Amino acid sequence: MVQGVANWNTGETQEWLQQYVDDWVAFYRKHINDGSVATYIPELQKADPNDLGIAIIGKNGLSVRSGDTEIPFTLQSISKAITFIVACMDRGVSYMLDTVDVEPTGEAFNSIMHLEMKPVKKPLNPFNNAGAITVTSTLPGETSDERLEPVFQLLETMLGYRPELNVDVYESERDSSTRNRAIGYYLLEMDFLESDLDITLETYFKQCSIDVSIDDLARIGMILANDGMDPKNGEEIIPRQVARITKVLMLTCGMYDASGKFATYVGIPAKSGVSGGILAAVPPRVREEIMPFTDGCGIGVYGPALGDKGNSIAGIRLLRHIATQWDLSIF
Ligand code: GLN
Repeated sequence: MVQGVANWNTGETQEWLQQYVDDWVAFYRKHINDGSVATYIPELQKADPNDLGIAIIGKNGLSVRSGDTEIPFTLQSISKAITFIVACMDRGVSYMLDTVDVEPTGEAFNSIMHLEMKPVKKPLNPFNNAGAITVTSTLPGETSDERLEPVFQLLETMLGYRPELNVDVYESERDSSTRNRAIGYYLLEMDFLESDLDITLETYFKQCSIDVSIDDLARIGMILANDGMDPKNGEEIIPRQVARITKVLMLTCGMYDASGKFATYVGIPAKSGVSGGILAAVPPRVREEIMPFTDGCGIGVYGPALGDKGNSIAGIRLLRHIATQWDLSIF
């Protein structure tokens, strides 16, 4: 690693970082063929599997972007982290932790097995579909748009603009939602839902269909890494306790049934979605060797070719490489 360069914000070191990341993106592009785009939501099939992009935004203003940086994609499961934060801010952390547990399932994101096999009193975590739909049922409001308003407001505060609903993806997801409806009916039967199932599902499909960019994800990651505070002015956007629990859940449950491996080999709190996005929050680290981004950064990745667990295949490998090279792991 580059030694003896304390200030990464100089033009020269910025160029080095850019060169590294460009090379790594070019290399991991070759891994795209090991995965394929999600097909169970027909609209997601339209994504170009060859796309791969990354944005890294540091606390002190240093940032690096590489690859396909301009392509919008939908939040999908990354929205589960956002709605969980909104619900915690609205209802309080202890209420939400009574509503949904914080245990990894070791099962696919859309599995229903744990609900039936174990005598659970609540869904196991807010980052699989059963838990996320339950969290969404706690959002206040009569209509799905009313319920999503605080979600859009939080996104707007974090991003500096109001993102838009991708109506094509929303309709596609709604019209191909047999599994999520099955999960919803199961939750209803278990008495886990706090409000009307149809409106809850409509809200859930919409939250998954909000368009973002890798820059947006990096910005959100940066705020989470900074314990919920806006790094620009120190203002609290997300209460520290909520940011902390969200990062814990990202680390333990954020990559579905690949979460253990991701924590082991990458070691960064992250949340993925089947559109191919990954949101990662790298907290500040104390390192003896001089490394970039030791005061924390947010990372956004987009690579729609997915591995068998539903995570961006090249995106995960790229993150693993960068985390190793720059010692980003929190452990
Ligand atoms: N909208 C998707 C679903 O509910 C989200 C899943 C995901 O991103 N893993 O199936």
